[in-house]
Order: sequence, then C-alpha cells, then structure tokens
Amino acid sequence: MTSVLIVGAGPTGLTAALELSRLGVDVRIVDKAAEPSPTSRALGVQARTLELLRPRGVADELLRLGNRAYRTALHANGDHLASIDFSHMPSEFNFILMLAQSETERLLADRLRDQGVRVERGVAFESLTQDDTGVRTVLRHADGRTEVAPASYVIAADGSHSPIRKALGLPFEGSSIEQNYVLGDVYLAGDMPEDQLSIFLATRGFLAVFPMGDGRFRFMATDPDGVTGDDADPSPEDIQNLYDRTVHIPARLYGLNWSSRFRINSRHMNTLRAGRVFFGGDAAHVHSPAGGQGMNTGIQDMINLGWKLAMVLRGTGRPELLDTYETDRLPVIKQLVAMTERATKVFNSTNPVAHALLTRLTPVVLSESAVQAKAAPRLGQLSATYRGRPSSKGGGRIGPLRAGDRVPDVRLAEGRLYDLLDTSTLTLFVVGDDTDPIAAPHHDWVDVLTVHRVALHPALAPASGWLLVRPDGYLAAAGGAGESDRLTGWLHRWLTEPAQPTNSSNAARHVASRLPSSSSISAHSAVAATHSRAD
Ligand SMILES: Cc1cc2nc3c(=O)[nH]c(=O)nc-3n(C[C@H](O)[C@H](O)[C@H](O)COP(=O)(O)OP(=O)(O)OC[C@H]3O[C@@H](n4cnc5c(N)ncnc54)[C@H](O)[C@@H]3O)c2cc1C
Repeated sequence: MTSVLIVGAGPTGLTAALELSRLGVDVRIVDKAAEPSPTSRALGVQARTLELLRPRGVADELLRLGNRAYRTALHANGDHLASIDFSHMPSEFNFILMLAQSETERLLADRLRDQGVRVERGVAFESLTQDDTGVRTVLRHADGRTEVAPASYVIAADGSHSPIRKALGLPFEGSSIEQNYVLGDVYLAGDMPEDQLSIFLATRGFLAVFPMGDGRFRFMATDPDGVTGDDADPSPEDIQNLYDRTVHIPARLYGLNWSSRFRINSRHMNTLRAGRVFFGGDAAHVHSPAGGQGMNTGIQDMINLGWKLAMVLRGTGRPELLDTYETDRLPVIKQLVAMTERATKVFNSTNPVAHALLTRLTPVVLSESAVQAKAAPRLGQLSATYRGRPSSKGGGRIGPLRAGDRVPDVRLAEGRLYDLLDTSTLTLFVVGDDTDPIAAPHHDWVDVLTVHRVALHPALAPASGWLLVRPDGYLAAAGGAGESDRLTGWLHRWLTEPAQPTNSSNAARHVASRLPSSSSISAHSAVAATHSRAD
C-alpha cells in the first residue's frame, strides 16, 4: 500500500510529492493530463514561497530564471498615483519573482525526478472509499484500464473543479464575479518599466501589465463593455485596443503567444480534511488573481501538511497533529479570499464616483508608512501566522515572536538562519550559553530534535532562551532558559512518547554533544547574528 497518493500534478501536488518524498515517505502522484500545461498562468512567486523553497533546493533556479518586480505602481488618468514598495518586505526576497507557472512546475517536477519520483500522467481519479485503515482509490489509465490504488492517505490537489471534492460531496462555498477578464502574454515596445508591476485604473475597468523579462509582459484587463467580443481567445487587436484606451504610455503590443478570458470565482472549502483525504491548493480555495496569491497558497498548504504527515507516518507525530493542517491553514485561506475579494471590488469598480474617490485616496493612503509597512509583507505572504491556533496554544513567545509566527530567515554572520533549519524535523535554536536548563528536560526527544546554538540580534531574542521551530519555519514554542516546561509541554502534546526513553545522563551528553560550545561557535554555521533589521 502506498503511504500517500497525490491526485493532481499542478504546483500544489508537485510540492506535496516533493516534500513527502524528501522526508522519506513513499508517494505516488498521478495527473489525468497527458502532458504538463504549457501556459503561463500564475506569474508571481512570493517572498514566503521563495523562503520556503530555498532550503528545499528549488529557489536558486527559480531566481535565475525569473524577473524581479520591486514595486507595484498605480496610475490613473495619465498620472502616477502611488506605489507599493516591496523593499518593505522583511525578507531576503523583497520583490515578487515573475516566472511562468509552466516553468515553476517544470522546476518542481525536475527536482521531484531527482528525488526518484515520476509523475504518472494520463491517470485520472474516478472514485474512492475509505475506512480506518486507508483509502482505496479507483484510477483510470489512458488506455481505459482501471486500477484500485490503496493508500494510507490521499492528497486532493486536483484543481478548482476537484473531482475528489465533488465525489465526497463537499461544498465549495462562495460566489462568482460577473466580470470578464482578458489576459495575454505579449511583447511590448514602449516605455514600460520591466522592474515593476504597473496597474492603470480607469472608469472603464482596470488594466495591468506584469513584466516577465526580455520585453515580455503579462497583460490583464477587465472588459466591462465587451470591446473584445466573446471569442474564446482575445486577439492581438483586442488587446491593443484595451491597452490604447486605458494606458497613457504609448506602446505597440506584439508577439501574443497566449491569451485567455476568465471570470473570478471566490470560494473555499470549510474543511481541508475528510477522514484520510486532505485538500489543498485550488481544490480547496479559489479567488481573484489580485496580488498573485493562489499558486503560492497551494505550495504553502503542502509545506504545512508535508512534515505533519511524514511525522505521523513515521510514528513520531501523534495523529492529532494532522488536524492542525486545517486549523492552521483554513483561517489563512479565509482571510486571503476575503482580502482578494475586497481588492477586486475596488479595482473593478466602474462607478465614476468610486473611481474619483479611489484616485484621490490612493496617494494619501499609500503615503502612510504604516500602510506600506503592512501592505508589502502581506502581499509577500510573510505576515500569515498560526498564532492562537491549536498548534501554537501555550507555545509562549520570545522577543517580538509568538508561537505560530513565521520565524524570520535572518542573516547570520555566516549564511542565514534557515541554513540551520532542519526541514525534516523540529529544530531547537538555543540562544545564549545557559543551555543546561533546556538540555535536560527534552532529553527524551533528542532523536526528533536538531539543536543549534545561535546568537540572534537582541531585537529578535533576548540574551538567553530557546525557539522550537517547525520544518515549515513557523515558531512552535519559545521561552527563556527557565521555561523548559513549555518545551516539553509542546513535545508531549504533539509527539508520541519515545519508544525507549533514554537515560537522563546519556541524553544530556547527547544534547551537549550536538550543541556547539561557545568556543566552537565560530567554527560552526551557528554564528553570531549580525542582521541589521529584525526581519
Ligand atoms: C490566468 C491566471 C493567472 C493566475 N495568476 C496567478 C499568480 O500570479 N500568482 C498565483 O499565485 N496564482 C495565480 N493563478 C492561480 C494559479 O494558477 C492556481 O492557483 C494554481 O494553478 C493552483 O495549483 P493547483 O496545483 O492547486 O491546481 P492546478 O494547477 O489546477 O492543478 C490541478 C491538476 O489536477 C489535475 N486533475 C484534475 N482532475 C483530475 C483527475 N480526475 N485525476 C487526476 N488529475 C486530475 C489537472 O490535470 C491539473 O494538472 C492564476 C490563475 C490563472 C488562471
């Protein structure tokens, strides 16, 4: 029996397969399509996605191929209104990386192949049944043959029309927006910056151009009065017409190599789990492309789920850990759907009064540094938190960080914090020399903890304390040297009791041997932090 069957090889399913196989879980990934989609679709790879993919060995190639956008510039009536400056993102990746989804998927699939997993194409989900022991999924192969595939768990990454969601009769509540969108990938000859997202607001809908590099742009516009007709794919003339009537920067658009129309659906599931079946990505949530969040959310869903499934399958995590996938991610998803709905309503408005108000207020609102400081991190998916969720209840805090928060990938004197993050298990970062009170209580779990001593900037952590960090880079628990009960409390709650508790003195030695001593700090990568911002 396969441990995890993944249905769908879009970015969500590929990330699930990548993460689970990396963690030693036996997976199968199937997709009904004979070939990967060649279309560009999701262009924006957000900072948080890059932060998480870097220690997983995928980000370097993404960064090499993608084009960086450093701000969003808003225009109306021929004027520049204001910009959202991404330098406010508290991340090494303080930009949005523009790369065609087909390329992102290719890189994920290449990496997956390197890990020994091949996407089984032309294999479609048909139905499933499940009980306490596993899931029996009926798959249909391209030659018409059917197969019953048994698995301990199934991940439904089968897109917005999710046949699995439908087969299980689960609702996908929300609404559809009665607005036609036109999009296409074109070359643009004109004075259009290639290092920013440019949005043009108008009473007859909005138009956006997103730079893909080398003179190519993604063009996206609303077409409230139907100037582009309703043919399946908008023509180059349609796109030029929409551009000319909205944008004040003269340009010739040419070399259209993909165009499409779409309507926005804004929906999400109210549960991400049905027994042994987990839902993620578009199968679980769809919304407006405003802000380029969709693909990134699916990738992050799977990075949240992967380590939990792996730990439970390994027998080190308690089964209840799997419930925290939904309790962590569903609030983030609901907030995202609501935020993109609001943004879409604002940009779509064809009401002249609302448009006048928007063009007058935008420069005022965006000139507030507090707004800038909030907007960019939110766009980069850096401010999502699992604070107050069951996975972080009672986890305490350290410095400005509370259990459930993203642990920033701060710069250290050598490398970055995530270079030390063990993405296969929990990492205990010990700050300061006073390790004994921390080392002793967690001795039973030495085999599931990677321990590093780090010196962090005082703005992030006080002189002495500890941070228990999950493989997905969120803070599980934290405290001062005298608060080790909190550490053992978190471990007892979510991990199974160790099969053979180690004797205390041995364990303490083990821990001590894994903790670099003060004198050896500079010889290790756990070195004094020199980061200048509390990022
Ligand atoms: C025009 C456009 C622009 C977008 N721009 C952005 C952006 O800038 N940033 C962003 O983050 N997101 C963007 N998105 C959204 C993004 O494309 C999706 O969020 C993303 O593709 C979701 O990935 P997924 O893997 O969950 O689903 P999908 O990519 O839809 O993959 C689902 C897979 O499941 C397979 N499947 C379906 N049925 C079955 C079955 N019965 N059996 C087996 N396999 C099956 C399909 O073949 C498909 O390969 C955009 C979307 C569109 C359409």
